[in-house]
Amino acid sequence: GAKEADAAGSNGSERGPPGHSMLAPFTSGTQQSDFHPLVIVRSEGVYVVDSEGKKYMDALAGLWSTALGGNEKRLVDAATRQLNLLPFYHSFWNRTTDPALKLAEELVDMFKPVKMAKVFFTNSGSEANDTQVKLVWYYNNHRGMPKKKKFIAREKAYHGSTLVTATLSGLPNLQKGFDLPEAFPYVLRAECPHYWRNHRPGESEEDYATRLADDLEKLILREDPETVAAFIAEPVMGAGGVMPPPATYFDKVQAVLKKYDILLIADEVVCAFGRLGAMFGCEKYNIKPDLVSLAKAITSAYAPLGAVLVSQKIWDEISAHSDKLGQFGHGFTYSGHPVSCAVALEAIRIYKEKKIDQYVAKVGPVWQEGMRAFEKSPIIAEIRGTGLIMAVEFGDKDPKKPFPGAWGTGAYFAAECAKQGLLVRVSGDIIMMSPILVVTEDELQEFIRMFGEALKITENHVKELQASQ
Ligand code: PLP
Repeated sequence: GAKEADAAGSNGSERGPPGHSMLAPFTSGTQQSDFHPLVIVRSEGVYVVDSEGKKYMDALAGLWSTALGGNEKRLVDAATRQLNLLPFYHSFWNRTTDPALKLAEELVDMFKPVKMAKVFFTNSGSEANDTQVKLVWYYNNHRGMPKKKKFIAREKAYHGSTLVTATLSGLPNLQKGFDLPEAFPYVLRAECPHYWRNHRPGESEEDYATRLADDLEKLILREDPETVAAFIAEPVMGAGGVMPPPATYFDKVQAVLKKYDILLIADEVVCAFGRLGAMFGCEKYNIKPDLVSLAKAITSAYAPLGAVLVSQKIWDEISAHSDKLGQFGHGFTYSGHPVSCAVALEAIRIYKEKKIDQYVAKVGPVWQEGMRAFEKSPIIAEIRGTGLIMAVEFGDKDPKKPFPGAWGTGAYFAAECAKQGLLVRVSGDIIMMSPILVVTEDELQEFIRMFGEALKITENHVKELQASQ
């Protein structure tokens, strides 16, 4: 519950007066006033260093974002060059900058699953997904289908925290207190495709995927296909707990969407640029999206940037009718910010030089297999992931028997990891991890060792709790 989540905010630190003037994202009032924040001052490769000089291996790469790690000088130089040349010019009204034009060209070129035509730049993943909603409405209004407005998003999805994207997201903590989901009544909810948790006795992954696709079709028919505009999905679900799709899931879902003329938006904010061992999640799962959202690793998080890739199919329709609606009345001051775009161009150059997708395909399994040795732990319910993304969930092997929230197992474990020097993300009893993409095999072994040490201590702790029940 809330109390355990707050305890997780202690960062194991007793030093200094707590409290500060920042209204911190995704941090409770109690955490902000009662606990000292962990202040990170410096980073080196896979490590970050706090204000007291303690070094941690950063298991989440910032927020699934600093793909190239802490001190990639080429990105710093790219930003500095651009800051010296032209720190800012906008991209409104057919004025723009070189880095924005070049980056759009590069992204259209490098996305192979479908032919992309255009790129719209934002500052974040939330703004990218917010833009998707407007683009889909714009597209359907243009082609004379103004009733086609609803979105299907999945339970436990994370698509951002603006009003609209918090509604697309399927996580209650983003919605309670904000009149959501009611305030944006255009979102339909599909099941989270989590095989371990949701499959029926004897049901194979493929059968489970078939059932989900059937349920999706029923939902569309119930709502009236004429009113359903798009389905939005992360190739591997991230913040909701790292859920790779069950086998054949996207094939079956895409067949249903096609049948009812429903667009597919791939939210690649976490998956793109190699994380899954393919340049894009869409490549890995044979997804043919109409629209794609990017952010995070696009600049390795050295500067804020998001992007929407618009397929040729969508653009042809929009451009054919553009004299009707006039200008595309949407944009941000910093759409295509030249410094962010220059950093992104350099990051992509590095991903290509390092063949980052192949590198992750090579080291990802070393880490995945090493971590899977912990699956026999009596306190681990499931370990799931692919490439360099993973979740470890505490609990009984039976998904219907989670540990009591009051035990705070996840928070306890995360605090033990921090003592070891490993900074993990905790959400209830789920530990989420996505190390930098240029992590070495030695660093991954060290990761596994620290994880194992914290696990042993947590096993004993849980044993005591169980004994005292
Ligand atoms: N989409 C996905 C899949 C994400 O994981 C996130 C952020 O974690 C977002 C969108 C929102 O991106 P941002 O935080 O840059 O707004």
